[in-house]
Amino acid sequence: MGNKTYLSIIQMNDSHAYFDIHQEIFWEDGHAVYRPAGGYARIAAITKQIRAENPGRVLFCDCGDTLHGTYPALKTNGEAMIPVLNVLGLDAMTAHWEFAYGPDILKKRAAELDFPMLAINVYDQASNNRIFQPYTIKEVGGLRIGLVGIASNIIDKTMPPSYSEGIKFTLGRDELPDIIEILQSKERTDLIILISHLGFPQDMKLLSEVPGIDICLSGHTHNRLFGPVRQGKTIVIQSGCDGSFLGRLDLEVEDKEIADYRHSLIEVASDVIPDPEADALIQRILAPYSAELSKVVGQTATALNRATTLESTMDNFLLQALLENTGAQLAFSNGWRFGAPIVPGDVTMNDLYNMIPMNPPVSTVELTGKELLEMLEENLERTFSCDPYLQMGGYVKRCLGLTFYFKIENPSGHRIQKLFVGNEEAAPDHIYSAAFVTMQGVPQKYGRNRKDHTDRIIDVLQNYLAKHSPIDAELRGTVVVV
Ligand SMILES: [Zn+2]
Repeated sequence: MGNKTYLSIIQMNDSHAYFDIHQEIFWEDGHAVYRPAGGYARIAAITKQIRAENPGRVLFCDCGDTLHGTYPALKTNGEAMIPVLNVLGLDAMTAHWEFAYGPDILKKRAAELDFPMLAINVYDQASNNRIFQPYTIKEVGGLRIGLVGIASNIIDKTMPPSYSEGIKFTLGRDELPDIIEILQSKERTDLIILISHLGFPQDMKLLSEVPGIDICLSGHTHNRLFGPVRQGKTIVIQSGCDGSFLGRLDLEVEDKEIADYRHSLIEVASDVIPDPEADALIQRILAPYSAELSKVVGQTATALNRATTLESTMDNFLLQALLENTGAQLAFSNGWRFGAPIVPGDVTMNDLYNMIPMNPPVSTVELTGKELLEMLEENLERTFSCDPYLQMGGYVKRCLGLTFYFKIENPSGHRIQKLFVGNEEAAPDHIYSAAFVTMQGVPQKYGRNRKDHTDRIIDVLQNYLAKHSPIDAELRGTVVVV
């Protein structure tokens, strides 16, 4: 019988820089309900409590999509988030949307953190050296714990080129066995924890191929895992998004093995009393923006959310505004997962920036029917590929002005059964006008006469609200699984 050690692991993932409490969607009593949740001061209170329960035996890790997603974060290139993360006392993190500021700024941000940014799979193109350290060792409760990071690998594949200037990303699949070997033999770790931003399906495949990870903290796909998932000996958890949840794993470790464990997905509920120190810091950070962000710019009659895969009420609002602004036949935006829900009632500037914090220009392009079909098929494969490693989307591309019927299970390029623009079946040679935001909406390789307009999307949304409040954005049956 060896000594037993009790450890607590706390996970935060995809909090998207939601400094303060915000609306969240829950499925309860058979339908969607909304209530406020989240905010880093409540997260600080919960983590303080866990640390008090198990002093000196707690690790707190963040899986990325943390420095980006709200107006104060974007305005400061992520800098506003740094003191918050340092107050939370994290042990390590990895990255995804953090790269939106460009690799050079992200390296600067990472250097300002009191804890390491970890990524085994991000390299400088010229030197082939890693830009972040691959792992760190924490001594906790007499145990040596190896923390390993894998950043999102889609940044140089589906996102704007400025996000990955001079750097390249791998899946981490080839590097991981070597890192595990180093940790086990050279670093003599007792446990290895993987902090991943690949996504839940991707992590499950990776862990089926690479043994040796004790715990995988999974991110990116915004899964609320109410119970841990096993892949071989690895325990996998993921804990929602927007800082509305934390994951907690309590481990009983004996002879380098996890003898027992308990898990809870903790809702960062509105009745948690915020940690005063963190709250004061956050209110100070938000103060310069509060007049601008609290401005009421319209009303919505229906709840707006991004919680559904095929189309979403929030994006239908965005696309309606794009169509009206440009007069185009079609509108597209990416199937982003971020964006806190907006409940019926007033819509504020803060709500609009949460929807699309980058505030990109409105763009237009002309697409043939053939290109339209190819673009949608490519997006469906990136969303639903039967190989998780090829899933590089968020939700299905958001579309308006067209309707398509598709089979999820079909092979790549053969899913769409029928595609209509308006009420007419799309003709391969016909040219259709389309409005979109960001190159994730319509990738660079499709279409002609691509134009960035002077209007930015936040102004367009504001104008639409001014004209049509209260707006109404229900699901429309644009994308139908058959
Ligand atoms: Zn992500």
